[in-house]
Amino acid sequence: MEQKKITVTQPALPPLEEFIPYLKSIWESKQLTNNGRFHQELEQALCDYLGVQYISLFCNGTIALITALQALRITGEVITTPFSFVATTHALWWNNIKPVFVDIEPEFFNLDPARVEAAITPNTTAIMPVHVYGNPCRVDEIKKIADTYGLKVIYDACHTFGVTINDTPVLNSGDLAVMSFHATKVFNTFEGGAIVCHDEAMKKRIDNLKNFGFAGETTVVAPGINAKMNEVQAAMGLLQLKSIDANIAKRKVIAELYRRELDGVEGLAFMQDIPGVRHCYSYFPILIDREKYGKSRDEVYEELKQKNIYGRRYFYPLISQFPTYRGLESARPGNLPVAERVTEEVICLPVYPDLAERLIMKIVQCLDKKRKRYDTTSK
Ligand SMILES: *Cc1c(COP(=O)(O)O)cnc(C)c1O
Repeated sequence: MEQKKITVTQPALPPLEEFIPYLKSIWESKQLTNNGRFHQELEQALCDYLGVQYISLFCNGTIALITALQALRITGEVITTPFSFVATTHALWWNNIKPVFVDIEPEFFNLDPARVEAAITPNTTAIMPVHVYGNPCRVDEIKKIADTYGLKVIYDACHTFGVTINDTPVLNSGDLAVMSFHATKVFNTFEGGAIVCHDEAMKKRIDNLKNFGFAGETTVVAPGINAKMNEVQAAMGLLQLKSIDANIAKRKVIAELYRRELDGVEGLAFMQDIPGVRHCYSYFPILIDREKYGKSRDEVYEELKQKNIYGRRYFYPLISQFPTYRGLESARPGNLPVAERVTEEVICLPVYPDLAERLIMKIVQCLDKKRKRYDTTSK
């Protein structure tokens, strides 16, 4: 059989025939962008599905992060995590804000609330945590600190689609939550993103900011940007929503299979579901303890590659270790011990709705050398 690359993710695409009527409708209306019909429909449909009050669609998650900081007029210093995709910190830099890195907690690798207070200075205006891998941050503790010090909270919720804690949407935490609908995410609009907010005035401000700051035909109220989602993207979103529950359910089955099959492998650790949380299974990270496993994470990464299995070292290196940011005081080696360890041990295994069980077993077999060989040759 032909050896195909198994990638860490693969977009779930609806049948092409189902996309054509949307395109026909766009062609007929001749409205390609600027808050068109599908844009409006998708905003409403996402509010309903996600259980949030207001959502503003964007061309991508990074520009949504940048705009969220503008919307709240964040300046000075912002406390954030080094354990994320680099866009989290870039969004601060593009706003002339100084990132202050604080370490992560060892259980779910999210910003550690216990370490936030020590990093607050008179210049701190906000906290920007990330719900890494879709696991909710300790939102109550973060809110308490933010309220005590008068700080805003902007969540990078780019890994979080439809995640709830005891039926409460995680996206409702913080002053604003930012989503990404990039092709590699659980829900995609080719490229895309959104900001979730809680009142009409803020929704209006964000809508103005993403459209050059226009508040009316002849009125510009802020130095806005062009960050609009177009009608083709919005149509893709409407179509994706139809299969989102089925896709998340398939991801859950994959996560459970990995957990069952990798259980007890010496030196290999992974996360369990959190009681009361509805997860979206955006990633399946495992940690490799070099001593106990007998190999380093990078050796495992290379070995998997030899077998055409492409895991990803999310997140390696840390954002604070990139040449652009390593000069910052909070980035100095030793300041972020948990993140510095996790970044050396983590690898995300392939997860996507159509990942076949046979391929999952091939991955498991590579990771668990002690297990009896599956007889794949005879199949
Ligand atoms: C994907 C992602 C982003 C960037 O989103 P884009 O839509 O690709 O611009 C930002 N932060 C995190 C944590 C992400 O995973």
